[in-house]
Amino acid sequence: MHVIIRFHTTSFLTYFKSVIMAKVHYRCSDLGYQCSFEYDGPKPEDILPRIKMHMKYAHQIQELSPEEIEKVKSKFRTVE
Ligand SMILES: [Zn+2]
Repeated sequence: MHVIIRFHTTSFLTYFKSVIMAKVHYRCSDLGYQCSFEYDGPKPEDILPRIKMHMKYAHQIQELSPEEIEKVKSKFRTVE
């Protein structure tokens, strides 16, 4: 019984934290680049402009195509 009560408390806290503190994390190496660039932010739309800029200066990709943007987004992971 004690374990069950603790479990509920923990999952509530985890849920609460994930709502207020969740971040989207991106790593260039996940896309196959030999690159240590990482970036995170509260939402995908918050980090995309920074990633686009990185792509431009570090990988000489002037403009990401919609397909490439989808590829980048598919590598986003939510962290707490
Ligand atoms: Zn990179």
